[in-house]
Amino acid sequence: MSSSFDLIVLGAGSGGIAGAVRAARHGARVAIIEPDRLGGTCVNVGCVPKKAMWLAADLADASRVARAFGFDSVAAPHLDWQHFVQLRDDYIERIHGSYRGRFSELDIEMVDGRGRLLASRDGLHRVAVGEREMTARHVLVATGARPGRIDLPGGKLGMVSDDVFALRECPRHIAIVGGGYIGVEFAGVLRSLGARVSLFTRGPCVLRQFDHEIADALGNGMTHHGIERHHGARLAGASRSDGGYSLAFEDGSSADGFDQLLWALGRDPNVEGIGLSDAGVALDDKGFIAVDAFQDTNVAGIHAVGDVTDAPALTPVAIAASRRLMDRLFGDEADRRLDYTNIPTVVFSHPPIGTVGMTETEARERFGDDVRIYRSRFRPMRGALAGSEQRSLMKLVCAGSEEKVVGLHLLGEAADEILQGFAVAIRMGATKRDFDDTVAIHPTSAEEVVLMT
Ligand code: NDP
Repeated sequence: MSSSFDLIVLGAGSGGIAGAVRAARHGARVAIIEPDRLGGTCVNVGCVPKKAMWLAADLADASRVARAFGFDSVAAPHLDWQHFVQLRDDYIERIHGSYRGRFSELDIEMVDGRGRLLASRDGLHRVAVGEREMTARHVLVATGARPGRIDLPGGKLGMVSDDVFALRECPRHIAIVGGGYIGVEFAGVLRSLGARVSLFTRGPCVLRQFDHEIADALGNGMTHHGIERHHGARLAGASRSDGGYSLAFEDGSSADGFDQLLWALGRDPNVEGIGLSDAGVALDDKGFIAVDAFQDTNVAGIHAVGDVTDAPALTPVAIAASRRLMDRLFGDEADRRLDYTNIPTVVFSHPPIGTVGMTETEARERFGDDVRIYRSRFRPMRGALAGSEQRSLMKLVCAGSEEKVVGLHLLGEAADEILQGFAVAIRMGATKRDFDDTVAIHPTSAEEVVLMT
């Protein structure tokens, strides 16, 4: 077994695996080190099992709509969690298997353990895994992040997002603290699956960093969905008794009777215990590994991608950054790097959100009065037929005399699937006129994007 490589990757999550595979395809000798399950957060305790739950929730919603359509044989939805969890776990196991297959096909050595950087010697970087020492010209740190907790009394009680996937039954009444991606997504999923959901945010709305109209419209949609929202809720602590979890707030009020409590407060980078200081790798002022636009750290030959850096914590971002880095290091593409502008993102809320580019506020800060907003609010056909009041909102943010589309924000049925193609157009510099000149597909929700006046 050789201990000398072209590339050693710390962490076999989305970014690490993508980098290892791309480097090996360029002919590099690669080792990838992982102490846990292959696939990291996304595959094991993130996007994949979450989307599976969202699909289950979507089917539950669809069966309610089916009853409204007149299908009298559709029973009230009740999920057999054990059965569903088995399907979900089997699906994830197949992904693990496909990774192992790719590693073996490309001669990537998979090392089971925790990698730790040592001080470099003779121009080579050194990594220890237990007693074994390995060397390489390049090291990629892709150790990801973990869910954060709050430093308040009772902050260690209850679940973080990883733990939701270990649930074997639907909560009766769950308190969710935090109104970002994870808080909003689990609120919708668990509500659709039958839980009573109380969501607490310290700010005035959910998804504070999103376009304000979309965030407000989602808030209304959540209320319509039966989610109890409590904004401006500044937490003082949590406790647990026979009656379940209780939350206490700074203003002296409290809320109790929850059988589950979920903290959804953002994520902390996994920078501890991996020898960053021994190797001289610097962190930024937020505690992430500091990288430049080429994913290079301050130490030549040590690179970082994904959630361990201060990039948007999105799987496709980590993958794209990592592949481009390997094209540069091993594929003779000297300037290859990820352009971090116009990254599309979806929140699997109920209904989903798809967004790319600038919010209205960001565009007005950048372009002043030279911004024009187009919107469409409508009841999607399926909901309208079923008598639902749920509304979709689509919003185009345009700038300059040629009305270049600098932002697109979608809330509503199928927003998650609609966005991707439009993200290509926006990346290519499409203007409002290009959207207008595109013939609509009727009757769909997507057609509204090209019909706004
Ligand atoms: P987010 O950053 O999205 O949201 C964090 C939430 O926690 C915000 O509502 C924030 O409030 C609140 N918060 C933070 N600190 C405190 C505090 N001390 N007290 C009270 N509230 C607090 O993080 P998430 O954990 O939801 O998700 C982590 C990341 O994972 C996301 O940012 C996203 O990048 C990724 N992700 C992506 C998904 C997707 O692509 N669909 C799905 C899930 C996660 P405030 O707004 O006031 O700051």
